[in-house]
Amino acid sequence: MTEIKLHNSLSRKKEIFAPIDPENVRMYVCGPTVYDRAHIGNARPVVVFDVLYRLLREVYGADHVTYVRNFTDVDDKINARAAESGRSIGEITSETTQWYLDDMGALGAMEPDHMPRATQYIAQMVTMIEKLIADGFAYAHEGHVLFRVRKYADYGKLSGRSVDDMIAGARVEVASYKEDPMDFVLWKPSDDATPGWDSPWGRGRPGWHIECSAMSYELLGASFDIHGGGNDLMFPHHENEIAQSCCANGGQSMANYWLHNEMLQVEGKKMSKSLGNFFTVRDLLDEGIPGEVVRFVFLSTHYRKPMDWTVEKARNAEATLRRWYELTVDLEPTNEAEFVADKDILDALSNDLNTHLALSKLRKMTANPQALLDNARLLGFMSDECRVQFNIVDETPKVFGVSSNFQHSKLLSEIGKKLEVTRVKAMESKNFSEVDRIKGALVAAGVEVRMSKAGVELLPAAGFDASKLEGLL
Ligand code: AMP
Ligand code: ZN
Repeated sequence: MTEIKLHNSLSRKKEIFAPIDPENVRMYVCGPTVYDRAHIGNARPVVVFDVLYRLLREVYGADHVTYVRNFTDVDDKINARAAESGRSIGEITSETTQWYLDDMGALGAMEPDHMPRATQYIAQMVTMIEKLIADGFAYAHEGHVLFRVRKYADYGKLSGRSVDDMIAGARVEVASYKEDPMDFVLWKPSDDATPGWDSPWGRGRPGWHIECSAMSYELLGASFDIHGGGNDLMFPHHENEIAQSCCANGGQSMANYWLHNEMLQVEGKKMSKSLGNFFTVRDLLDEGIPGEVVRFVFLSTHYRKPMDWTVEKARNAEATLRRWYELTVDLEPTNEAEFVADKDILDALSNDLNTHLALSKLRKMTANPQALLDNARLLGFMSDECRVQFNIVDETPKVFGVSSNFQHSKLLSEIGKKLEVTRVKAMESKNFSEVDRIKGALVAAGVEVRMSKAGVELLPAAGFDASKLEGLL
């Protein structure tokens, strides 16, 4: 059997992966809080852990892996969104949940085996909290229940900090209902305007961390193999999950292997609304960038390195994928029972998910298009849905106007579409004056115009001035 090595945040080392039960390899990944579209940073863990899921299925068998990813559908950000929009919480969470599934599906991510929603597991959370209180690990005070951090000797082991350092450096909240500022909330009271459930401590709602402990226990047991998420979750979220789960269920560390992806940036900068470089997965898809291109860009950087989303990378990824589709247009994928993964690719993935190396091996497979197609599918590319989406087969022109500024990209993309339609009409009428007019205006606005059989590409060049584009739509 292929040996998988994974970098374990707990030991800070790459370790040989040995599942508790090879017949049922179990993985839990923290999912989204559902109140808005997922931004492209949120999609990084989804794509990374999707590759791990696919690798585990390949090595242990598709029926021998259980993957759980939750939806946080009780949270103060959701309550705030409901209050400001005048819509109900249920409406917002169910709409956002569906958006998430659609957007992540477009990136070629498989759906996990279980996608529990926090609101469906309130009773299990209450039971776990009652046990923590009974055993002295938690206490109820003024309608709140808090976890006694100093009762859990290993607190801080995952993130490598001592409790005293954390107090000195962290923004821990001091509150009248806390015995110690480090203690964190398991349960909090709800007023009439806030969602709440009856509990032994009055009407209230759970804290965020307890949700993952209760749901992973229900669906995967007290100890399981892999726990994943972005490295921003390591402290306090994962540290708190471990403390709750170990104190309530026994066990060493809840999960044996803790994996964390690094953060995503845009053009070398932290993504933020104020910098104008914030966008959602849907923004990119609407702009005409195929989900597969996003996936390709993500996987070209190792998951433990910061990943930089750039227009240049998206353009290169699109060109590579286009070439792969051209090479494999007449081929059918080998059926799953007969498929044997390429050894180099499997080795690359098994070495702590070296997707960068796996992609360069795929790039070198162009002499064998059948192997290219089959192994690309192992990494989640060129699925039946994606083949339709990318649409090389019927030569539908692709418009690909991109810039690091999303508003500009959107504008360029729309002008690109208009130019493409105009160009097709001009080919029939043999009258190119309108095409020339649009092209001229684009060049005057500092846009490089590339027209080919594949479609229109508009690229902001030196002297680009978006204000000169306004009249073109
Ligand atoms: P949230 O809904 O904020 O709890 O985030 C959902 C997931 O997205 C978590 O696993 C986060 O670690 C991850 N995440 C958030 N921002 C980024 C980012 N910029 N890059 C990579 N992952 C991120
Ligand atoms: Zn979690």
